[in-house]
Amino acid sequence: MADHVLVLDSGTTSTRAIAFDLAGNVAAVAQQALSQHYPKPGWVEHDAGEIRDRMLACMREVAAKVGHGSIAAIGITNQRETVVAWDRQGGEPLARAIVWQDRRTADFCADLKAAGEEPAIQQATGLLLDPYFSASKMRWMLENDGQVRAAAAAGRLAFGTVESWLLYNLTGGEHLSDASNASRTLLLSLEGAQYDPGLCEVFGVPHSALPQVVDTHGALAMTDLLGPTIPIAGIAGDQQAATIGQGCFAFGETKATYGTGAFVLTNKGSEIPQSHNRLLGTVLMQHKGKRTYALEGSVFVAGSLVQWLRDSLGVIASASETEALARSVPDSGGVTIVPALSGLGAPHWLADARGVITGLSFATGKAHVARAALEAMAHQTHDLAEAFAADGAPWTDLRIDGGMSANDWMAQDLADVLGLEVERPDMVETTALGAAILAATGAGLFASLEEAATAMRGKVRTFSPRIDDAARSARLDRWKRALAAV
Ligand code: ADP
Repeated sequence: MADHVLVLDSGTTSTRAIAFDLAGNVAAVAQQALSQHYPKPGWVEHDAGEIRDRMLACMREVAAKVGHGSIAAIGITNQRETVVAWDRQGGEPLARAIVWQDRRTADFCADLKAAGEEPAIQQATGLLLDPYFSASKMRWMLENDGQVRAAAAAGRLAFGTVESWLLYNLTGGEHLSDASNASRTLLLSLEGAQYDPGLCEVFGVPHSALPQVVDTHGALAMTDLLGPTIPIAGIAGDQQAATIGQGCFAFGETKATYGTGAFVLTNKGSEIPQSHNRLLGTVLMQHKGKRTYALEGSVFVAGSLVQWLRDSLGVIASASETEALARSVPDSGGVTIVPALSGLGAPHWLADARGVITGLSFATGKAHVARAALEAMAHQTHDLAEAFAADGAPWTDLRIDGGMSANDWMAQDLADVLGLEVERPDMVETTALGAAILAATGAGLFASLEEAATAMRGKVRTFSPRIDDAARSARLDRWKRALAAV
């Protein structure tokens, strides 16, 4: 019986396939790490061939575990904004994928901004002129990579974000993107069904190289790579998928995901979000052409700060060790970290900012540094909370998820510093669950997303604030002083 949904979760650090049953239980998982390439400071690349090969291997492994015939639908969720360029002839990548964290196009974005282009672009796309988004990365490839340029000249170039690249390979050559991913490129107007030719011109991206934009759930595509023909019935960028996985279907409901970066989204219903506080307007989902929007705040460095402590500094052996270290000291000993290791995102948007550690003394030990790293998550989230409130979208509570949210100390610290209840589902893989909810609904296994979420979401744990206003202010003052040093 076809009673599983297979989710392909193509993340920044790993690639995973997860089979869910229709009660939301994980029936099987396969995971492979992705190689990270850092050819120059500020540059981050992936091998698109590796993304494809490892994802297909994970998909086949999970399908074999649950049985090919038991898969009713496939859902896809992915790291957003990352750009893949491939040759329609042969279907092979033309260059390394440029990853969302990559800052190489900062100067180009700054020039466009100086030329006064940002307000109109923000009005149309909901986004800001920042190297984070896809369009300037596409332009960079066209300007700097001979193979990409030659393929464009020959009319063979295909550009896409990661879901588009996977779809191309799953379907045997269909060039599609869903509206939630497309809304992260700077090339889609929040009101337009397809990529905007005027925006393509601003960035010098040939419209013909881009995919067709489709819904986030419904009968989107088919694959026969697993034997039987299986519908691909749900597709969403990782943050939109997590918002759905957290059941944020009502206007104002908010989630924060702490993975490599941290991303907060508030459901804005059919209202097109316009931020006055440097937050982003984005497509949350699209069904039968009708869009639901979200207001979003993106913080570039969250779990990657912990990764840096582990891999570059060697201060810790594992990410989870930060929890015991943070608990082993009464406070951070005055140490504050501003984790601007790849610039500062919302609401600051300082592409060239660099990280800062303040308050060091001979009494500082690694426990203080680890605690300060975790504290930085609450500090950054607090800045976002202020921006959302100023944009008329104050949070009443916060639903958290992502690999880093497994850290109980951090979850409690968030509740303390925000002064809000913080809710964490027992199953923190809400990104994959969101894609499963979309695909299950898109394939008609449930009548609505709400019904699917009720059936598939598990229990939650609530963290309530425990510190008083004075302690909260002291923490935030320390953070503001450190920010001033950036
Ligand atoms: P992504 O989907 O962006 O690849 P994940 O959601 O898998 O990321 O989260 C992984 C990130 O979370 C890593 O950067 C890791 O350092 C961090 N992380 C994972 N577990 C913990 C933990 N217990 N405490 C602190 N950080 C953690």
